[in-house]
Amino acid sequence: MSVRMPEPDQALLARRDEIVRALRAIVPGEGVIATERGMRPYETDGLTAYRQLPLAVVLPETTAQVAAILRYCYAETIPVVPRGAGTSLSGGALPLADGVLLGMAKFNRIRDIDFANRVAVVEPGVTNLAVSKAVEHAGFYYAPDPSSQIACTIGGNVAENSGGVHCLKYGMTSNNVLGCEMVLMTGEVVRLGGKHLDAGGYDLIGVVGGSEGLLGVVTEVTVRILKKPETARAVLVGFPSSEDAGACVARIIGAGIIPAGMEMMDRPAIHATEAFVHADYPLDVEALLIVELDGPQAEVDHLIATVSEIARGCGAMNLRVSTSEAERLLFWAGRKAAFPAVGRISPDYLCMDGTIPRAKLPLVLARMKDMSAKYGLRVANVFHAGDGNLHPLILYDANEPGELARAEAFGADILKLCVEVGGVLTGEHGVGIEKRDLMPVMFSEVDLAHQQRLKCAFDDKGLLNPGKVFPVLNRCAELGRMHVSGGNLPFPDIPRF
Ligand SMILES: Cc1cc2nc3c(=O)[nH]c(=O)nc-3n(C[C@H](O)[C@H](O)[C@H](O)COP(=O)(O)OP(=O)(O)OC[C@H]3O[C@@H](n4cnc5c(N)ncnc54)[C@H](O)[C@@H]3O)c2cc1C
Repeated sequence: MSVRMPEPDQALLARRDEIVRALRAIVPGEGVIATERGMRPYETDGLTAYRQLPLAVVLPETTAQVAAILRYCYAETIPVVPRGAGTSLSGGALPLADGVLLGMAKFNRIRDIDFANRVAVVEPGVTNLAVSKAVEHAGFYYAPDPSSQIACTIGGNVAENSGGVHCLKYGMTSNNVLGCEMVLMTGEVVRLGGKHLDAGGYDLIGVVGGSEGLLGVVTEVTVRILKKPETARAVLVGFPSSEDAGACVARIIGAGIIPAGMEMMDRPAIHATEAFVHADYPLDVEALLIVELDGPQAEVDHLIATVSEIARGCGAMNLRVSTSEAERLLFWAGRKAAFPAVGRISPDYLCMDGTIPRAKLPLVLARMKDMSAKYGLRVANVFHAGDGNLHPLILYDANEPGELARAEAFGADILKLCVEVGGVLTGEHGVGIEKRDLMPVMFSEVDLAHQQRLKCAFDDKGLLNPGKVFPVLNRCAELGRMHVSGGNLPFPDIPRF
């Protein structure tokens, strides 16, 4: 495995029993897990190629307990890794051997549903889908819908700034979060934002979105809830090539239409999902687009006609419009199950997550085909096509010597290509450990220094989720002394992992 983690502090490992006792004094009963068997379920997240047992697992139930744990760990200089459901695909929740794993699963209550202000106040361990379920009786829902929504938590969504098929029109998690309560590493509790639309001062709630558990532990989140649109219908369109499908995506957006969702799959992904879900996808096409239009009935009818015309003009081989809610959900069922479906045709896969300008899709797909041949590994592609967010799934077998390393090198080349064509390293899965060492491909040393300075303002000892996101470890003392002027920082002397 190519990503190296910080060396564990031997002195902390030697003090394990004492640390576990201190944690038990804060969270009594079964809230502290310290046996190897009990900690196994926490050793990895969705990036299963990496595994590490933590020093101990703690499952607090109240903000006061979280504050006491962090205060203790700060005083004793013990690293802490926050965790929601552990579905992160970038290794963000990977434990550290000398660190406490802070599981937030017991923060699972919905505290307040306020239809008048169109918000719900929820604890971070509430699953994404549970928010929509809690408000559906009144015709409301929570818009960001990661495919993992049945399991992933709102705290994890905030930390990763997660997206989903409906984020093209309704925004990512950070566009749908108005406030949060967060405990800092020192144990101080801060409240950012609230039910109101804007707050004075710096946009700190904007900073927390996508902070990957490096700034604080989120203990409460205020999310927007939206009224369900009157109608939603989906169009399923098959194309003879990914280039044609890519051109169709560009033409739809160029026509001024923002679909509720616009997703694309290539042939390997179509075949894998059809065999798994039986969504009645056409199997004689090279690329499949699912375009969802929502809103008032008359508007949806008009948009369906326009999108269908555009698709035919782009060479669509076949086109079906959902005629019932059940059929619309079936169209989506395949796409939403694409990752597990690909898991059925390969022992292992790496799910990459880069973003490119939409117009570069044909070029990037062609280059990816070459890379697939070069590395001798298959790749299946699913995209949030409207956002230009790619999810190439690289198929490999961890039991075959060298295949994981080849898959990681292939993945790194794809992400570098995304940056080269004017895109970014991540769309929605975060940096974690997966893309950490690629950060200098996208950011200069000065960019990274300023990002780390922000981290230092929240966590001066660098104890929250160390080894994630930044390719160099905690440098708060040094950055505090440093005069940042242009590119003259003494970075070459700073050891990377
Ligand atoms: C099958 C599958 C499909 C997926 N589909 C999508 C998708 O469509 N869109 C998408 O964006 N992602 C997707 N993901 C990725 C993943 O589900 C998201 O990143 C999700 O937000 C992670 O939530 P979690 O509760 O599992 O968090 P975890 O994996 O437990 O943690 C993720 C990060 O959040 C931090 N964290 C967790 N809770 C807190 C907290 N309370 N305070 C501070 N930091 C915290 C952790 O330290 C870690 O850095 C998918 C994953 C899988 C396995």
